[in-house]
Amino acid sequence: KFQNPRAKANNNIGSNNNGNGGQRPHQNNGRQAVPQGNSNSSSNNKTGNDEDDELPEELQGLDKELVNKIESEIIDDGVPITFDDIAGLRDAKQTVMELVCWPLKRPDLFTGLRRGPNGLLLFGPPGTGKTLIGKAIAYESGATFFSISASSLTSKWIGEGEKLVRTLFAVAAYREPSVVFLDEIDSLLTQRKADENEASRRIKTEFLVQLDGTGTKGRVLAIGATNRPSELDDAARRRFVKRLYIPLPEPEDREILLRTLLKKNKHRLSDKEIAKISKDKTNGFSGADLKALCTDAALGPIRQLGMRALEIAAEDVPPISYVHFKHALKGMNPSVAQSDLDAYLVFNQTYGSKA
Ligand code: ADP
Repeated sequence: KFQNPRAKANNNIGSNNNGNGGQRPHQNNGRQAVPQGNSNSSSNNKTGNDEDDELPEELQGLDKELVNKIESEIIDDGVPITFDDIAGLRDAKQTVMELVCWPLKRPDLFTGLRRGPNGLLLFGPPGTGKTLIGKAIAYESGATFFSISASSLTSKWIGEGEKLVRTLFAVAAYREPSVVFLDEIDSLLTQRKADENEASRRIKTEFLVQLDGTGTKGRVLAIGATNRPSELDDAARRRFVKRLYIPLPEPEDREILLRTLLKKNKHRLSDKEIAKISKDKTNGFSGADLKALCTDAALGPIRQLGMRALEIAAEDVPPISYVHFKHALKGMNPSVAQSDLDAYLVFNQTYGSKA
């Protein structure tokens, strides 16, 4: 007998209620999961039964277990990300706000020629905020966020990849508005290789079919993210009508990010030192590189204490200082090569959409 594992948290598709719990805005169609701890809204429940063991009508015919797995493993209802949490990338944020968030929020206004795109490609070096943008789009649009790495379809979801893709898009349409974030999209929608096996080929075909169908059954935006955009084949590229370059942060954006990260711990870096680190010492660093640098520097005071660290009161830990950054910088280089950056620019000039 079908038993939804999340039914107790009133967090399952079958319960179909309307709570929000402050996690995401209220624009969704009421088919959104209710976060744990806010499970007293069974009056909104379509069936009035939290332990509902039937899939809703719209999802009948789908594999219930797979629907449950999507609910628990692919729908991301973790900490919301807003555009303000993302340093820099002003143009990209502005573009996605107008291009995709508004249409997802107000489909009644964005019809006909104004209709938003169903597919958005975010490309650029790793660690520059592509995933953050995907999450922020979902949050700012009040959409359910589905997140899956394309490479997991042929590894983790082996044997059920094709069915999973079909089911995923059906659940996304049911939970509209939805954002389906497909990380490492190049690993799936790549130009055909001689050693491509039948299973991968079928998953890829199903993907293209689903991408064609997005938006016809519900407000679903598919976002593909890739560090290797040139590996996408023509058919895949065409499905992502809008293609936005997410570049490395500019020096001033690195400073904003550095300041944000430093807020989390006690430090005694002067403005001049912060400017020096962000403007001179971290050329070519991605947001993720900067975070790794700050993490390492933040461990500096603890390392200095040695075994004493285990006994010291938290408020007595010395502040992070410039010397800790100098030390951390010794072991770090930007993770993206110049030649890769040049290739992104070429792709952007050839296929990119204006931010
Ligand atoms: P990717 O482009 O590979 O999807 P992510 O969005 O996953 O990169 O970013 C990885 C981590 O790097 C984030 O969790 C965040 O800590 C940091 N980061 C990267 N870019 C930014 C940014 N523009 N603003 C704030 N944090 C960022």
